[in-house]
Amino acid sequence: MKNVKRVFSMPYIQSLQRKIAGNPKQNCIFAHSNINIHTMKLLEGKTALVTGATRGIGRAIAVKFAQAGANVAFTYRQINSNAEELIKEIEALGVKCKGYAADAADFAATDAVVKEVVADFGRIDVLVNNAGITKDGLILRMTEEQWDAVITTNLKSAFNFTRAVVPFMAKQRGGSIINMSSVVGENGNAGQCNYSASKAGLIGLAKSIAKEMGPRGIRANCIAPGFIVTDMTSAIPEEMRAEWAKTIPLRRAGNPDDVANVALFLASDLSAYVSGQVINCCGAMSC
Ligand code: NAD
Repeated sequence: MKNVKRVFSMPYIQSLQRKIAGNPKQNCIFAHSNINIHTMKLLEGKTALVTGATRGIGRAIAVKFAQAGANVAFTYRQINSNAEELIKEIEALGVKCKGYAADAADFAATDAVVKEVVADFGRIDVLVNNAGITKDGLILRMTEEQWDAVITTNLKSAFNFTRAVVPFMAKQRGGSIINMSSVVGENGNAGQCNYSASKAGLIGLAKSIAKEMGPRGIRANCIAPGFIVTDMTSAIPEEMRAEWAKTIPLRRAGNPDDVANVALFLASDLSAYVSGQVINCCGAMSC
């Protein structure tokens, strides 16, 4: 008990900060006066694969992982300058980075991409199934095309990547799979039956993989973001977004970095005994 008090007492933390300030090489959470998770190098030596990472939440995760020391492979649907910029930003952090143009919904293309990533990086320790789209509409008007596009891009893509990655993770006797679900996957949402169904499916997928592959050291979890400011949500009218933000107990929309911090926890060994779970990142919008 005495030791516990000592570890968490302010004078002790401040003395640690002073020591570390004199030793910039030291990896520690107390490198500055605020907790600095970037210097923790939680993912040093690991390779992460993030789908749909050229913008929004996926981009924030790719950068956060690189800041934590991971080599980063990422996919994107269409060739554009965003991918080149992301590679430059990540390489500047001193880790390896490569982008792969591929449609996450395509089973054969995904298998080929994963094999390429393993050939390029030697291993895959973390998979983030992030790629996603919306095609909203009320059930009375929803077309088969709207339904199929969302289920295929959001849910089948996660199956494609998980199916392709799991043999390599099993050989390594470890890995962390993170599915980007949503609070609407838990609660449903009027006008989003396709999207909500896809996000609920991601939860079932992660829980099943956690049970099936746990004995091989593979963990699978979901993040359920609430209202996060990205291109996906900027399509929603401004007044509606302002109204939503008022209903969130933390009184603000989330930002991609809020979600990336949860992903960092799930990717790292800090969550070594966490599997088959859904972590909401929603400012208490859903609880
Ligand atoms: P976004 O639209 O900015 O990013 C989605 C990314 O997925 C884009 O880079 C896009 O190119 C990529 N993508 C789409 N289809 C693809 C495909 N077939 N193959 C490869 N890449 C593809 O949206 P975001 O807000 O950053 O969303 C990221 C994830 O988080 C999505 O799965 C989304 O459903 C989920 N999410 C977002 C919110 C939110 O409020 N923004 C809330 C809950 C969940």
